[in-house]
Amino acid sequence: MKYGYTTTDGTTYQLLLEKAKKMRNNPTEAESLLWQYLRRNGLKEHFRQQHPICGYIPDFVCLRLRLIIEIDGGYHSEGEQQEQDKIRQDYLEKEGFSFLRFTNEEVLYDTDETIGIIKDTIEELKTEAFQNTRQAAYPPLGRDRVGSVRVGFGFDVHKLVEGRDLWLGGIKIPHSLGLLGHSDADVLIHAICDALLGAANMRDIGYHFPDTSADTLDIDSKILLKKTIDLIATKGYRLGNIDATVCAERPKINPHVEKMKECLATVMNADVDDISIKATTTEKLGFTGREEGMSAYATVLIYKD
Ligand SMILES: [Zn+2]
Repeated sequence: MKYGYTTTDGTTYQLLLEKAKKMRNNPTEAESLLWQYLRRNGLKEHFRQQHPICGYIPDFVCLRLRLIIEIDGGYHSEGEQQEQDKIRQDYLEKEGFSFLRFTNEEVLYDTDETIGIIKDTIEELKTEAFQNTRQAAYPPLGRDRVGSVRVGFGFDVHKLVEGRDLWLGGIKIPHSLGLLGHSDADVLIHAICDALLGAANMRDIGYHFPDTSADTLDIDSKILLKKTIDLIATKGYRLGNIDATVCAERPKINPHVEKMKECLATVMNADVDDISIKATTTEKLGFTGREEGMSAYATVLIYKD
């Protein structure tokens, strides 16, 4: 959105997104290995895996530095494929992207060297002179060219009762009480769903998943979240980032935050770094303080390229 590259029309983009998702779910051994390193932010730069750019899906891209990393395995060595790769690379280089290409073998057997090359390239791209030229050639874009960026807010409350499991942020947390609801009552996921729907101006969670429906009885809220992401995608929106807060007196939420983030990132096919979960008590005040219930707030940003 703020990186200033163009994409294709909405329909083609949706097809690309689906294709990218499939590719993410079936990585090669070399891709998995490198992604494990890149996603842990080992290079202090945010990389995306199989992210559509200009009608093309590179293996990895750092949008900030406009760096694309490709791992060429199997079919890349075929003549026709090489020609197509070259056309795409030329086009993206004109758009200001730099390319690094590695073979499967280089990634798998010379991993340290591969990472060293990526590191050096990042340093080079980060040098001030380079950034200045780049900024001049590719200035930040205005709203007319970035498509649409929207913000949404969500809030939810559930009652705490005995005899129910406590589901929060998609994971089960050991506790003597659980949240009561028609679904699994995951208050955090519900707040996030409402924020996503609100951002896309698509009503609220109760409108799409009524608590009178047998289909949603005891349903895992992760399914609702996945469906919500699909709903906003029908209007061409993708998740930018989430910032959420859970209010609970007990149990301690913080030890579970990382696991929740990972869980939600998987469900939404998002980067862990784009999901922030915070926890607070209400200093023993109000219904949360008396442990009668929990509440959650979420703000999200969604965008169309
Ligand atoms: Zn709810």
